[in-house]
Amino acid sequence: MDGGAIEVVGRGPRGEIELALLADRRATHAGARDRGHGFMQWFHFRLHGEAGGAANLRIANAGEATYADAFEGYRVCASYDRERWFRVPTTYDGSSLHIAHTLEEATIYYAYFAPYSWARHEALLARAAQSDRARVERIGSSLLGQPMSLITLGEDDGQKPHIWINSRQHPGETMAQWFSEGVLERLLDEEDELSAMLLDRAVFHLVPNMNPDGSMLGNQRTNAAGVDLNRTWKDPDPETAPEVACVRAEMLERGVDLFLDIHGDERNPYCFAAGCEGNPSYSERLDRLEDLFMDSLVELDTDFQREYGYDRDLPGEGELGAASNWVGEELDCLSLTLEMPFKDDANHPDPEVGWSPERAKGFGRTTLEAVLVSLDSLRE
Ligand code: ZN
Repeated sequence: MDGGAIEVVGRGPRGEIELALLADRRATHAGARDRGHGFMQWFHFRLHGEAGGAANLRIANAGEATYADAFEGYRVCASYDRERWFRVPTTYDGSSLHIAHTLEEATIYYAYFAPYSWARHEALLARAAQSDRARVERIGSSLLGQPMSLITLGEDDGQKPHIWINSRQHPGETMAQWFSEGVLERLLDEEDELSAMLLDRAVFHLVPNMNPDGSMLGNQRTNAAGVDLNRTWKDPDPETAPEVACVRAEMLERGVDLFLDIHGDERNPYCFAAGCEGNPSYSERLDRLEDLFMDSLVELDTDFQREYGYDRDLPGEGELGAASNWVGEELDCLSLTLEMPFKDDANHPDPEVGWSPERAKGFGRTTLEAVLVSLDSLRE
């Protein structure tokens, strides 16, 4: 299946099924594949067992993962029907990840986070294409020739602000695309007054999947060339990062007044945002805009908070290869990386599902309310 990744090693000493994480894979048109390029975290696979029987699995090399410490306090996602994802009892001993529970049905799926399949991605585009409110365009191709798709909503009259929301540069961060599904559903909802107001006053551009090849390959962080796209924005090489090159060109062409780059964080059990404070041309105006947007979001969504997140960059030390920094610097606009947890929101934990597709979608919906609050201030 697309996004599948695991290696079966054999039987462990106590009869458990012993598994190994796979490092991000590279691939070429000719079908050649190799792996072992630094990043290793994502897994997604199916198990055939026995209803009522015990599932006893051990991911033996979890301690060698890129963010191995992020497995502390983490619980594996599972589903019988691939619709409803729940958490299963998981322990991490510093070197391996143990999953042990009773199977309610014979066949079960496990993943690092609820997968967002390629079929669902196509269905999302089709839903947008069917609406009078949205247009779907192919703006380029991934390295392996898959379409780079852009959804645009609202009519450009030359005056309205342009809002860009990009998801899943890091393909294993599937919650980012669940977030975008929530955004799109709300913007397409003709009963929703907020959406009518937003589309009256702004143009929205959504890139729901920035990394189609990495998504297919079951990678955590990189594309088919083994490149972390969120380090290439300053000078994307069309040979190894065509995904960024084409989206960046469209952003420059159409303009950007607010940019949200959507991600998931392996370690932090919180929703948070990172701004452009490390950019060379960061200004008081951008500082005020970041405060306005983030403080509004704190008010609007109890899952969002400003207490926990990344350390702030020192002045002038922002990584301009990262999308939100580069866009903020180049277009002098409010530009944020939004992060959601792989684990759960520690302020509002859900023992059943942890952080989930539904919660990511809900966060996307409320983020639009913070966009509305900020709209008139974006170019003041
Ligand atoms: Zn990310």
